[in-house]
Amino acid sequence: LVVINSLKKSFGQNEVLRGINATIERGDIVSIIGKSGSGKSTLLRCINGLEKPDSGSIHVGGLQVGGTPAELQKLRQNVGMVFQSFNLFPHLTAAENVTLAPILTRRISKSEAPALAKRLLEQVGLGQKCDAFPSSLSGGQQQRVAIARALAMSPEVMLFDEATSALDPELVGEVLRVMEDLAKQGMTMIAVTHEMAFARKVSSNVVFMHQGEVWESGPPAEIFGAPRTAELQRFIQTPA
Ligand code: ATP
Ligand code: MG
Repeated sequence: LVVINSLKKSFGQNEVLRGINATIERGDIVSIIGKSGSGKSTLLRCINGLEKPDSGSIHVGGLQVGGTPAELQKLRQNVGMVFQSFNLFPHLTAAENVTLAPILTRRISKSEAPALAKRLLEQVGLGQKCDAFPSSLSGGQQQRVAIARALAMSPEVMLFDEATSALDPELVGEVLRVMEDLAKQGMTMIAVTHEMAFARKVSSNVVFMHQGEVWESGPPAEIFGAPRTAELQRFIQTPA
């Protein structure tokens, strides 16, 4: 579903991605782990076209990232993204936040919006909060609205960039549970995460990034149970 080939990206002299190769199949749950600055966010941003690679290629569902504006628009609809900061529109209700994009892109009509919002907010455990404004919701609830919003375009793959890092510890679990539910329903997911329990338990594959490269990748049992490199062994002992 997602094919990344010799992907390179620098910011000035700083080589942030040094030739990334990866293939993600439909239904894979990929956790990306690695130290701060190893290029995890840059990789995700390249996958949905927010960042332009210097060389190499990325295909999502056969579409090349970085094609024509029409292709880019199609790609963005295919790739949902959830950030650390929820970035909900404060003047819109939860339901309106969720259905804004599908209405603007004419995927659904205004009259269909409430039912879609209700269904998606129920899916993230917020069926009772359709009319609530973001300021009246907890961080965990806001992040779940953001997940529902990303799902509203029926993406084929969901990207998460430290979706729980900005939350108070007691709110992390409710967001991880929603992510786990999505995984169980067969959603293809790529999640940059510091939640090692999530990486271990939920993912089908773990990618360890180090200095802009995929240093090790494999099933969680292998990555956590039998790390091959000193860098990964060190990271597992003191993730930072
Ligand atoms: P963290 O765990 O802290 O989020 P990360 O693995 O996500 O780290 P990136 O955000 O991808 O790392 O950053 C990798 C490197 O690229 C860092 O050295 C960062 O300073 C640099 N970088 C990222 N975005 C930009 C940008 N827009 N302009 C210049 N440098 C950037
Ligand atoms: Mg990051």
